[in-house]
Amino acid sequence: MTLNFRISIQFYPIFLGIILTATTGSFAQHKANSNGNSLKQSIALIDSAFQHNNAEDFNKLVPIKGVKDFYASVVEEKIKKLSGKSKIILVSKDSALVFLSGILLYGNSGDETNYAANYTGIYKFERVAGSWSLKSRIEIDRLNQIKKHRLGINIIPGKSITVKDTLTIDINDSYGFATRLNHTAKLKKLTLNGAETEFSFDAGLLLLKARRKNGQTLILEYSINVEREETDKNSAYFGDAYGHLRNQYFWHPFFSFSSPNDRADFSLYCTIPKAYYLATSLHQKETVIGGSRIVEAKSGNPTFGLSIYYDKDWEVNTFRKDHIDLVVYATKDFLPEKRALYAEFSKSYDTLQKHFGKPIGNYLGIVQDRSNTDGWKNRSNSIVVAGLKGSTLITDKPNPRATFGHEVAHGWTNPTGPATNFLTEGWATYAESILLASVYGDSIITTFFKSQKQNYFNGKFNGKSSLWEDYSNSGVSYAKGAWLFYILSHQLGKKHLSTAMTNFIQSGDQSIKSFTSHLSAVAQSDMKPFLNSWLKSKEIPVLEILQSGNSIKILQAGDLFLFPLEFNIRLKDGTYLTKTINMQTKEQTLTISEGVIESFIVDPGSKLLFTMK
Ligand SMILES: [Zn+2]
Repeated sequence: MTLNFRISIQFYPIFLGIILTATTGSFAQHKANSNGNSLKQSIALIDSAFQHNNAEDFNKLVPIKGVKDFYASVVEEKIKKLSGKSKIILVSKDSALVFLSGILLYGNSGDETNYAANYTGIYKFERVAGSWSLKSRIEIDRLNQIKKHRLGINIIPGKSITVKDTLTIDINDSYGFATRLNHTAKLKKLTLNGAETEFSFDAGLLLLKARRKNGQTLILEYSINVEREETDKNSAYFGDAYGHLRNQYFWHPFFSFSSPNDRADFSLYCTIPKAYYLATSLHQKETVIGGSRIVEAKSGNPTFGLSIYYDKDWEVNTFRKDHIDLVVYATKDFLPEKRALYAEFSKSYDTLQKHFGKPIGNYLGIVQDRSNTDGWKNRSNSIVVAGLKGSTLITDKPNPRATFGHEVAHGWTNPTGPATNFLTEGWATYAESILLASVYGDSIITTFFKSQKQNYFNGKFNGKSSLWEDYSNSGVSYAKGAWLFYILSHQLGKKHLSTAMTNFIQSGDQSIKSFTSHLSAVAQSDMKPFLNSWLKSKEIPVLEILQSGNSIKILQAGDLFLFPLEFNIRLKDGTYLTKTINMQTKEQTLTISEGVIESFIVDPGSKLLFTMK
């Protein structure tokens, strides 16, 4: 999964889809009294501030760090923005829940929806001394769950998609139910448990009034005219010969990219003219009836955020490896050749299975996206997406990479919640080191991690992002995440790490909590302090090392990390010693009694990610 959150900002004429709001009043039986008016006034001030370009004014009204940072970046990039509908959802005494929305207009509607989610949402207001002001943000998914999607989809290539989604949802939040959906979707029908219901839909957030109950049925029917903009095809593109909708286009409803509460069972029934092939991002089968190709797909494990690709000129080839179907959706001239892909898949699969047991799924699709430049582009549910052509499968030069094997390795994890991208991208990048070693020998591992360390610094993540909070997949999880797995392999031993990982994968609970407890079980000690030091810090260890006689003092100048640190010590009598100190505090001393220190090397095997002060 590669989520491209870094928006490319391009200015060209914008078609703003119709903003649909079904209700005119407020959800709440909110009497217009003097206090109510001041709540309305407070909302009106925020709506107005959103549209202007004064960060100081906006920050006073919306004192939430994440939203302020977002607003500042929008102002700096001079992105056109419009405040949308706002709505008082409910008021009780001195607090109220309010829906605030605003959209950014700069290009693809999916990217706009995604970016606007930084602001559009539900907020808690409080009345202090008679005056209402915004206090905090409510996560839309905090108490609700999407359990099932039954999607009926019709695709008109080059033009549009129509969707009927029958969702099974648990609603336990007082505000009702809300989900993200592409802000240009034209809603034709919405029913909850068979009855039409009040809703608001603006700036990519659909909000409905609903009572608390599990197992409710929400049916949404809508269509989206999909962009065919030649200069902005990343999120979605519907050309005449080929096209796609990525998950980040929000073409079907879900909460976010890291919510544990929208991992749902999917079943899809898609139709497209038979001249076109269609790849969903799930295990699928197809039939042709009359002029239509019908593709039916099902998720094996709960998942979210599906993608869809179509192409007139593909050939579809199926290969089988153990219980897994490898299906390649690509034109005849696609490179690497399909047989070579299968061979590499087979080899990567065998190597990873030897260490970590069977993957979670039983299907891997390789999908060519002819709108994209060559390379392995991203992973979406059970497919790997390539550009016009794929690229190198595995290489030792100039920097070692097992690019294709990385995508295969994603089949072993499907986490949710904090540190999600550590367990997806960090894991898959670590898996590359194992695949590289199986081809080029163990000596390549050190070279690989040196280049990953370089990637960490080149990406300028230090001091900015932690693995724990990398919800948007900023990039930090690849290098630092892989390094954390590598450090764990030294801390626990490779074999123990394999056992813990195998148990974690098979457990069916892929939260960081579960990962920690599986590691602790094999380590026979609580691994939480160790892991948290690495997951929660935005830095890497900064070491200062001072020698005084036969003592070596190690100081951690930045955040406190836990790790083993190796020294190679040459004594005055010409002999060598290897010593490992387990760092647990900011300052520790290693004292040598075997002789007199002449010189020493810190971390001779390059087993730790750190910098020197
Ligand atoms: Zn990846």
